[in-house]
Amino acid sequence: SKEVESFTDWLRDSAQVLHDNAAYLTELDSAIGDADHGANMDRGFGAVVAVLDETSFDTVDELLKKAGMTLVSKVGGASGPLYGTFFLRFGTALAGVKLTPAAIGEGLRAGVGGILARGKAEIGDKTMYDAWGPALDAYDTAVAGGGDLAAALTAAAEASAKGRDATVPLEARKGRASYLGERSVGHQDPGATSTTLLLESAARTLA
Ligand code: ADP
Ligand code: MG
Ligand code: MG
Repeated sequence: SKEVESFTDWLRDSAQVLHDNAAYLTELDSAIGDADHGANMDRGFGAVVAVLDETSFDTVDELLKKAGMTLVSKVGGASGPLYGTFFLRFGTALAGVKLTPAAIGEGLRAGVGGILARGKAEIGDKTMYDAWGPALDAYDTAVAGGGDLAAALTAAAEASAKGRDATVPLEARKGRASYLGERSVGHQDPGATSTTLLLESAARTLA
């Protein structure tokens, strides 16, 4: 279907963007983590593309669930299970549902609920949730104002970028960066950065 095609485009475009930004993401992670976030994302999404190349999907929910399972199984560390659970729950929420902008927003929120269930982050902890949280709210505001999918995803990507930038002055309270305490201040969170790349890709490809 057209929908499966556009969600496939999103995953492929994300894989390309994460590949192109792998060194940058790893550099961010070298400041406050273990210098592997770019490699983790590149490996995970590379594996997702390999699955897309050999499998065809009838529905968006099957596609997203398979992407999530692939990320969980191919990426270690914090980000694999977190992004994997995001895609698993996003897909699960879309099963049998008409893919309106509102339904996709509910799916995104369900996916982020999976990140929170696993990672227990709150806003201000300097994690990927600092990018996801404002993105979900901006998405919903755009849809409530009559915006279409393109407008909602663009608003989400912009809000996510602001949330990413706002991680710089924060002290990390979750994940590896939290081991650094105050020394994590002054650095941009790698996961919030990859989240913004995923949402910018969605705004380009899904609408
Ligand atoms: P690891 O820290 O295991 O090496 P990555 O480097 O791939 O994994 O990912 C690090 C990113 O994961 C962080 O920048 C942060 O955004 C995110 N992260 C870590 N712990 C959590 C958590 N508990 N909740 C949400 N996001 C988290
Ligand atoms: Mg790391
Ligand atoms: Mg690691």
